[in-house]
Amino acid sequence: MTPKIVVVGSLNMDLVTRTPRIPVPGETIIGHEFFTAPGGKGANQAVAAARMGAQVSMIGRVGRDDFGNALRTTLAADGVDCTYVFEDADAATGIASILVDDAGQNSIVVAPGANARLTPDDVDRAEEVIARADVLLLQLEVPLETVIRAAEVARRHDVTVVLNPAPARPDLDVLLPLVDILIPNESEAALLTGLSLEAVAVQSAIEALRKVGVEVVILTMGAQGALLAQPEGLQHIPAFSVKPVDTTAAGDAFVGGFAVALAEKQPLAEAVRWGNATGGLATMRLGAQPSLPERQAVLDLIAQGGKSS
Ligand code: ADP
Repeated sequence: MTPKIVVVGSLNMDLVTRTPRIPVPGETIIGHEFFTAPGGKGANQAVAAARMGAQVSMIGRVGRDDFGNALRTTLAADGVDCTYVFEDADAATGIASILVDDAGQNSIVVAPGANARLTPDDVDRAEEVIARADVLLLQLEVPLETVIRAAEVARRHDVTVVLNPAPARPDLDVLLPLVDILIPNESEAALLTGLSLEAVAVQSAIEALRKVGVEVVILTMGAQGALLAQPEGLQHIPAFSVKPVDTTAAGDAFVGGFAVALAEKQPLAEAVRWGNATGGLATMRLGAQPSLPERQAVLDLIAQGGKSS
């Protein structure tokens, strides 16, 4: 049966300008080129899961504007159901204004717009779709009270709750006990646990488990793969060997690929391997959503190797 995944989260239009260097305050410089690309952690994870073969529904908010229309159209083109992507007459669609310089450094301003107006009531309106899901995917680019409501609704219907705590914030005491599987990267884990980045790998996963009572923590570690921490113990699952071009959305790809394996009832370690393969492949192409791989590419990479240690 096709796995069902619901994402409650953000949709942004990324406005990307490539520039020789990042201007200082008050300065105007001439850049190289400009392009727009669909983004937002919620939408990225929805697309990642859809390309991996899941039936995906997105719950979110966009403005009544061209960017909002474009974001819904691109999601729908990937087969994501947008019935519960609400249109807000009083806010603009969320955007991320991104400068990328010749050295590959970036500076980003996010204007959340309609994302900041996704309410617990919106989640309640979508209860029927959450109730039928295998997995609920959450991030932190929409209001925390809304994320909490989504987790509560999922819990009520025995739906597995996966939280990617990004962007990082420390005040998750109410949310974390409602989460089944937590997937932070190293800097998010450092913030959650109060540990330094150096100490974060093994220790933070254990700490995070103890502190917040989440059953399973999966720490993503870039080119090193991921650490799976569960009550039975810790397991390092190495990344696949790839030639990275752009790591944007690697984390979102990981979460999407992992969630689909989880919804297909794969063992956790195998689901992490799917996450590693999806994340690794996403680093091989430029951009967020354009870089997200199709299922067959992920399965081929897994079939070629990548043993866990
Ligand atoms: P984020 O993008 O949120 O910072 P990570 O950098 O940890 O997250 O990347 C998420 C996942 O993507 C990693 O766990 C890994 O599976 C994959 N990945 C990221 N960078 C690489 C890389 N250079 N080589 C192989 N896999 C990678």
